[in-house]
Amino acid sequence: MIPVKGYKGAKVAVLGLGRSGLATAAALRAGGAEPLLWDDSPEARAKAEAEGFTLTDLTRNAALEGVACLVTSPGIPHLYPSPNPIIARALELGIPVDNDIGLFFQSAAGPEWDEMETPPKVVAVTGSNGKSTTTALIHHILQVAGKPTQMAGNIGKGVLSIDPPQDGEVVVLELSSYQTDLARALTPDVAVFTNLSPDHLDRHGGMGGYFAAKARLFTLGGPDRAVVGVDEVEGRYLAGALAQGAGDDRVIRVSSGQKPEGFGWSVFARKGFLAEWRKGRQVASIDLREVKGLPGAHNHQNACAAYAACRSLGVAPKLIEGALHSFAGLPHRSQLVGERGGVRFVNDSKATNVDSAAKALQAFPKIRWIAGGLGKDGGIAALKPLLGSVVKAYFIGHSARDFALQVGDLPHEICETMDRAVARAAEEAQAGEVVLLAPAAASFDQYPNFEKRGEDFTARVKALIGE
Ligand code: ADP
Repeated sequence: MIPVKGYKGAKVAVLGLGRSGLATAAALRAGGAEPLLWDDSPEARAKAEAEGFTLTDLTRNAALEGVACLVTSPGIPHLYPSPNPIIARALELGIPVDNDIGLFFQSAAGPEWDEMETPPKVVAVTGSNGKSTTTALIHHILQVAGKPTQMAGNIGKGVLSIDPPQDGEVVVLELSSYQTDLARALTPDVAVFTNLSPDHLDRHGGMGGYFAAKARLFTLGGPDRAVVGVDEVEGRYLAGALAQGAGDDRVIRVSSGQKPEGFGWSVFARKGFLAEWRKGRQVASIDLREVKGLPGAHNHQNACAAYAACRSLGVAPKLIEGALHSFAGLPHRSQLVGERGGVRFVNDSKATNVDSAAKALQAFPKIRWIAGGLGKDGGIAALKPLLGSVVKAYFIGHSARDFALQVGDLPHEICETMDRAVARAAEEAQAGEVVLLAPAAASFDQYPNFEKRGEDFTARVKALIGE
């Protein structure tokens, strides 16, 4: 745990008692503060009490009097679409509003770091897509390179729950836009921006607010090194704003599909090859086509971002190449779960919308596509131009018939259940094809969440192929 600094003897209100809220409360207490805990949900309050925490009703008018700071959870709106009333009250009273990420950056470093041979470093990853994959990949590469490393944030454990970083350690954090939006301190050594596409716009008051929330990771603390995906105009703007001209190699430009020409340092993937260029010459090249845990152009973008972050920490290209090959992929994101007779079975249950399903559909040449569930507005009409790689579709769940109507003359079958879809796709698949679960729909009609859907797919594949 990282004891929170700066609030010794002070009252700090904690709103939101999920995993990170309770970890924050414990870390505040360890730092000598008095946390006042509240959650608007009775279930969350009961759970906190069951874990031995006492509650303070922060909805009472006088509850925030004498409070030094209000710490909130990422799921609670502080501005848009409208602020939570407790946050609104804190703002009226001029009480600083922060989150666990801000407390982490305020508290992680101490005088003991000055005594270390190599003071710890923090790498923070943000972006619309690929954050978890990139974060996990950086962590994996550092492990393979033999560096002490911990991973936290929006992935795994809360930031204040990690062990105090040791000499030479690298802490890798995944940060969502909700987290970067509010943190009062954001001072990573290396900051990574993967890409930008519209998401969570109601919480950020539109696209500008969404981008600004992510850009804070770069503008607030001024990282030593910024790894920036430049495939959208926002990334190009951010890279330009951070660099003193095109040759400034404090910014590493990352691209999937094109070579960023004429820059100090860039890493890009083209036609399945990753290339690193520095000061006008190629430094390294890696064949990504046989890297099984990272299929598709979107994962090649993630590989480039993770490569760049690790290069900026001094890891050698050959070592990174080996680590890319041993990366198993994250569960439910283009995850290879089995192989039989030249047919691969891939679980991308996290593809709950059309955008992420589109990436998965472009990652393989011949696909037996399992899709359906609780479809979103517009169904899968937007995927129609991308169905060239689909040999046949197997539709499941609530939207099975709607999806079937939308794919026109593409060969398809209504299977209703995962069980039947896996059995039929496996029966018909030929060597060289991929049976891909990329539902383009939420899971809630048949499963509690996308993880359970992916686990069901995986279990049925394993049962079928006898693993
Ligand atoms: P995040 O943590 O940002 O949600 P994940 O790594 O968990 O990202 O991937 C989420 C979904 O987005 C998966 O379905 C995956 O296939 C897709 N995806 C992963 N990386 C990218 C990328 N670089 N660009 C677009 N989509 C991606």
